[in-house]
Amino acid sequence: MYYKPLTLKWRPKHFHELIGQHNILKLIENSFLLKRIQSVYLISGIKGIGKTSLARLIAKGLNCKNGITFRPCQSCCNCQEADSNCFIDLIEIDAASYTKIEYIKEVLDTIKYSPSKGRYKIYIIDEVHMLSKYSFNALLKILEEPPLHTKFILATTEIYKIPETIFSRCFHLNLQPIRKKYIIDRLKNILTLENVYYEEYALDLIAQSSQKSMRNALSLTEKALILGNNKILSNLVSKMLGIVHINEIFNLFEALILSNKEQLISFFEICAKKIVNWDDFLIKLLILIHQIILFQIYPNKMNFILKKEKYIRFQKISKKISTNDLHNYYQIFLKGRQELTYAPEQKIAVEMIILRAFLYSIN
Ligand SMILES: [Zn+2]
Repeated sequence: MYYKPLTLKWRPKHFHELIGQHNILKLIENSFLLKRIQSVYLISGIKGIGKTSLARLIAKGLNCKNGITFRPCQSCCNCQEADSNCFIDLIEIDAASYTKIEYIKEVLDTIKYSPSKGRYKIYIIDEVHMLSKYSFNALLKILEEPPLHTKFILATTEIYKIPETIFSRCFHLNLQPIRKKYIIDRLKNILTLENVYYEEYALDLIAQSSQKSMRNALSLTEKALILGNNKILSNLVSKMLGIVHINEIFNLFEALILSNKEQLISFFEICAKKIVNWDDFLIKLLILIHQIILFQIYPNKMNFILKKEKYIRFQKISKKISTNDLHNYYQIFLKGRQELTYAPEQKIAVEMIILRAFLYSIN
């Protein structure tokens, strides 16, 4: 038996497994219930968010032997073949590999034939924005009056590249970047089913670094499992992702506002020994400053959000610095983030930004 990576093994087979997209799923469920089936769906969203999975789920729901359904039976031959990617009436085209008109024409020529086994012949065109101008024109002709037995599902990461003439004929489903909470819940669910030990903080770190994409989160989880010998451990994940712990960032900021040069040097000495994701570091620093400002404005509200230990730290630090200074530090780090691209090394950029903040603190 070949090993299936987590990204493939846990690809959604049911609509409810597509996390963080409640509104879109409700829209599809209702349209199936009301039999308001569209001719052309256009699914957009960032990479790894579930566009192709959603396209395949719609195709399966439309062709289940038990009728058009939001809950395909998974047991009829159409559902099973759809799950194995060998359903004869589901044609998937990767527009990134086949941009030319000749190929698209060849595919579109098959439209006149009725479906062999399913209710509909379904064409999924992935990365549709990559089609050439001529290919889009050929597609447009079909979309103007698609045969009743045919459905199109187009998917793209770059919605603004879709010609208006095509866009206006589509039922647009815009998938949202997935919230951290949903990614963590799904990872917990998967790892429990995989019977794997995990530390909650490690999943938090993975979700933070996933760029709101479930596929990224699963790829990182796979790496973490290999690194941790089938365990997901916070210290290893933290090293793998180059993440500086929030307590260290807190210590650094405290050292800055107290103009504690020795502590700043010690921070850089520690960081020199490991690989650090400096952009993530600056983002966390900005979030911390934002939270301290909020704390100064609504100390009572933050009582409900922060854990007790963190609350006490916020209380102490917010007494040592004015809101005005916090805003100035925020600006220094926010503008500094742009320097990451241009500096000879990201580490040098961050050192320079922190030195700038240090000079501000002693003046
Ligand atoms: Zn079925």
